Formats: sequence, structure tokens, C-alpha cells
Amino acid sequence: MVAEGKTILIAGAGPVGLAAAVELTRRGLKVRIVDAEAGPTPDNQSRALAVLPTTLAILKPSGVADRMLAEGGRILGADFSRDGKPLFSFRIKGARTPTPFILSLPQARTERILIGWLEEHGVAVEWNVSVTEIGETHRPTATLSTGECLAADAVLGCDGAHSRVREAVGIPWKGEGYPGTFSLADVRFSVPIDAHHAKISLRSGGGGTALLPFGAHEARLIGLVDDPRTLLDGLQNVSGIVWTSKFHVAFRRAERMAKGRVYLAGDAAHVHSPVGGRGMNLGIWDAGTIAFLLSKGRESEYETRRLPVVDAVLKATRRMTDLVAHPPALVKYLMPLGFPLATRIPPIRRRVSERLLALDLPQPEWLES
Ligand SMILES: Cc1cc2nc3c(=O)[nH]c(=O)nc-3n(C[C@H](O)[C@H](O)[C@H](O)COP(=O)(O)OP(=O)(O)OC[C@H]3O[C@@H](n4cnc5c(N)ncnc54)[C@H](O)[C@@H]3O)c2cc1C
Repeated sequence: MVAEGKTILIAGAGPVGLAAAVELTRRGLKVRIVDAEAGPTPDNQSRALAVLPTTLAILKPSGVADRMLAEGGRILGADFSRDGKPLFSFRIKGARTPTPFILSLPQARTERILIGWLEEHGVAVEWNVSVTEIGETHRPTATLSTGECLAADAVLGCDGAHSRVREAVGIPWKGEGYPGTFSLADVRFSVPIDAHHAKISLRSGGGGTALLPFGAHEARLIGLVDDPRTLLDGLQNVSGIVWTSKFHVAFRRAERMAKGRVYLAGDAAHVHSPVGGRGMNLGIWDAGTIAFLLSKGRESEYETRRLPVVDAVLKATRRMTDLVAHPPALVKYLMPLGFPLATRIPPIRRRVSERLLALDLPQPEWLES
């Protein structure tokens, strides 16, 4: 149980730290949130674009989800092609959720909505302040870059993949890198595009490109290629490139997600490939879970609740990434025929839809509390 009047320190004001601050504040707990950078993700960087139904359900009681829904686009399915020839279309149907779609909202905008909510509730992010050291973990103390030494009731390490908090408390980071480079490009179109359907362009030799719209004139292109410019090959009506990025991926997680009263959440606890758009979502689930548990005095359950879900996501994203990078010959041959036929059967279509929306993972039992 959180000691009366004591503060929970959140290291990192990325989407996960911000979501933790919202969830703790709405449950009546006192927070401080610090971030090493000067401000949130720059406006032009979409980063995590796909927001999944469970994330919206977690952020609904605070009212944040409604603000996100008002700003974001709705992806209702995908059209598949191979080597430029249309293969089939898939439409999300039958998924048991009030929001049966992928909300496409750039991470920079999600962060601004969370920051706006916090400001309205009297919580200001302390920018340009980093956590440099963690002392004792059972009655945690944290040293900040300002020189302040703070006794916190709990510390949440939401400080990203290179987490100082994780390192300071000595939690090992295990897993492995993945061969190949992912590239992405956010592009603007001179004419309106289909804002509700992703386009998946596969190549016979393996790999391919996904186009995820976010609005009537903008989309994210992402693929397993070395040069972001090649993502634009054959694309019509592009009027500008807003942002490009190139990165290697790894499948890693912290060996523990808690030590004493220091808890890890988001990329500080787990990283994997962007295939499936799970990263930020999984982190916001961590944030919602630790906030709920702290408010009920059940925080000792955090790690046992989250690690099985994290492991399931790492396994599933690894499988999906392998399938995209090196599709087995049988899958390549059968997919254009077998997938559209199978997904005409309602229970199969519902299963595929729910898997796509990550509703196949164990859902937080505390969602309505
Ligand atoms: C190109 C790209 C595309 C992606 N697409 C998707 C997607 O579609 N869907 C999805 O769910 N995910 C996606 N992701 C992943 C997603 O961006 C991350 O999972 C998400 O940002 C993790 O949030 P976080 O808050 O845990 O960490 P971060 O966003 O990394 O935030 C950590 C914060 O901690 C701060 N910090 C660091 N050290 C300290 C310290 N010592 N003290 C205080 N503060 C500190 C940093 O300044 C930073 O603001 C994508 C990622 C990339 C790179």
C-alpha cells in the first residue's frame, strides 16, 4: 500500500510514464514525473502509431481515450498485394470490443493528449531532469540530475530501452538482436488516400512494405529494407516526406520487472520488433496495471501478472517478424487462396480479428474498476 502523503516517482515521460502518471493521478495517488529530455516527442515523428483496443479501454475512465478517438483515424482492415498484384482484402469483424479497429494516432499526439490531461489535473512534467541513481530499493531513494535526493514511496522506471533505473538496480537485460534493418517513412499525399485500410505489399523473395494511413493525406510506410527511400518505389501522388528513420530491432526483456518498490514498465522492461504495433500498447498495459495494483496495495503481484504477457508478446512478435522476413514457401503459395477462404468463416474471422487487435492476450481483469 502507498504510504500516505508519499510520492511515486516516475522516471521518463514517454507514452508509458505519462500513462502511468494519468492512471495514478486519477486513482488519487501523488506523483512526480521527470524526463531527461527538454520536451515530448517532436511533432513530426509518428513513432508508435497503432493504438489497440485494450489501451483505449485502460485510458477510458480518465477520459483520455475519448480525446484520442476524437483525434485519430480508424483502420478497419487491410488490402494485400504481392509483387504489385492484388491478392485479397481482410476486414476486421466480430472482435469482442467496443472499439473494433486499430486507432492510428502518432505517438507525438498521444503524448500531448496525456500531458494536457495531467496539466489540467495539476501535474507538470519536470523536463530536463533525469534520474541518475537509485539507492535502497525497499524504501527507494532516487538522486536526480538537479542534485536533489528524493525518498519516494515507489519508483517507476519508464525510462526507455536504455533504462538507467533498470541498470541502477542491477536488473539484467536478456534476449537477442534480430538480423536486418527496418526502415520507415512518413509521407504526405497530394490527393486523399483510403484512410481506413492498411496496404500490405509483399514480395515473392520475402519482405515487403506496409502502408498505415493516419488521416486523409498522410501515411506511414514501413518495411524490412535498408534504405527508407526504397519504400516509396512505385508509390503515386507523394507530395512530401515528413520523417524517415532506420533501425535495428531486438527481442529483449528485463529479467525482473520489480525489485523492492522499484518497478519497470514499457521499453525499460521489454523491446521487440514493430511488426504488429504492440510496443507502446504493452507498455501502457504495464502502466495501467502497476497503477491499479499500487492503489489497492497489491503491487507485489505486478511481476507475476506482467511477465507471462510480456513473454507471450515477445514470442508472437518474433513469429510475425520471421513470417514477414522469410515467409515459408507453403505459406506464400497457400496464403492468397487459403486465407481469404478461411476468414470467410465467422469464428475464424473473429479469431484473426481479435489476434490482430491483441485481444487474444489475457485482458486486465481490473479494467472496469
Ligand atoms: C519507428 C518506430 C515505430 C514504432 N511503432 C509502434 C507502433 O505502431 N505501435 C506501438 O505500440 N509501438 C511502436 N513503437 C514502439 C514505441 O515507440 C515504444 O514502445 C514506446 O515509445 C515506448 O514508450 P516508453 O515510454 O516505454 O519509452 P520511450 O518512449 O523511450 O520514453 C522513455 C523516456 O524516458 C526518458 N528518459 C531516459 N532516461 C531517463 C532518465 N535517466 N531519467 C528520466 N527520464 C529518462 C526519455 O527522455 C524518454 O522520454 C515504435 C517505435 C519506433 C522506434
